[in-house]
Amino acid sequence: MDKGFETLAIHAGQEADRETGAVVPPIYATSTYKQDGVGGLRSGYEYSRSANPTRTALEECLAALEGGVRGLAFASGLAAEDTLLRTVCRPGDHVLIPADAYGGTYRLFAKVLANWGVAYDPVPLGDAAAVRAAVRPETKVIWVETPTNPLLGIADITALAEVARDAGALLVVDNTFASPYLQQPLALGADVVVHSTTKYIGGHSDVVGGALIVSDPELGERLAYHQNAMGAVAGPFDAWLTLRGAKTLAVRMERHCDNAERVVELLSAHPRVTRVLYPGLPDHPGHETAAKQMRRFGGMVAFQVAGGEEEAVAVCGRTEIFTLAESLGGVESLIEHPGRMTHASAAGSPLEVPSDLVRLSVGIESIDDLLADLSRALG
Ligand SMILES: *Cc1c(COP(=O)(O)O)cnc(C)c1O
Repeated sequence: MDKGFETLAIHAGQEADRETGAVVPPIYATSTYKQDGVGGLRSGYEYSRSANPTRTALEECLAALEGGVRGLAFASGLAAEDTLLRTVCRPGDHVLIPADAYGGTYRLFAKVLANWGVAYDPVPLGDAAAVRAAVRPETKVIWVETPTNPLLGIADITALAEVARDAGALLVVDNTFASPYLQQPLALGADVVVHSTTKYIGGHSDVVGGALIVSDPELGERLAYHQNAMGAVAGPFDAWLTLRGAKTLAVRMERHCDNAERVVELLSAHPRVTRVLYPGLPDHPGHETAAKQMRRFGGMVAFQVAGGEEEAVAVCGRTEIFTLAESLGGVESLIEHPGRMTHASAAGSPLEVPSDLVRLSVGIESIDDLLADLSRALG
């Protein structure tokens, strides 16, 4: 479907129901499907681990939004990552991961896949030459996050795609922070896009889910085989909620970006803030790359405060509209202390985050209320 992003979000994979005309794809709460004689499947549906029409609608929509040929929806972002990695890696293989990867992704590599013989090295992804130098003959995957969680580091997807191509490795981009509205890695040369749809795509903090999107149909087939063989699929209720969220992704992202820019302005001028991390700032080391590959700079902001860890924790406890909670990407603003919360699993590792860091997921509430809340909390 050769249509604009907003149109695809609302229509891709979502034609009106042939039987009833229902405009919204129904929640197919069924595990199995009646066969018209043995093997006589209707539209290919046999058993809901293999395929379910509500999930198919979501998968087709996500593939369209990322400009891929195949989308696959999973029970969580980490379930998507696990399925991908156990499809493409074997014992003895090696992967390169971001030096500031999402804590859960790091844990999957360090505590789970390492036990199965897949080695990993953290590398600073902002430095394509360092990534090239870290490639080994066994390197099968270069894992990219941009912007990174929580430090908002930026990697040049086009440059890393070239490194991956030369290495014969797959370039995987976790596009959770940007969302497909702000950044489309497949068009920049990535092989696989990963999402925690829990975040911006779902967008309302009411469902956990994950997705993989690819542009190579053969890889799509292998992943679909493993999705069924391993079984960590998105259920129909979750798929329906995620699809409902995706329809408004574009308008939500615009407001997330508007509000984040105003929050960054306030923080940058605040005497108790020592550093603001946001790729939209001209002095951010990845600013130019971000401007080249992103439509806007997103709704995630991190900052460091004077007074160290105790003060960072205290600020998180003083906001009222910014809710103290993990996760991100929903309509409501959230605040958290990565060192003790989302990234606690990286403590003592090379991926440990600064202890005076606060992370904001800037929501789409009235901006004046958000600014007043932060000013009060910072004192
Ligand atoms: C949350 C998150 C994940 C993991 O997704 P879940 O849905 O929580 O399993 C992966 N990558 C990033 C960048 C995330 O923020």
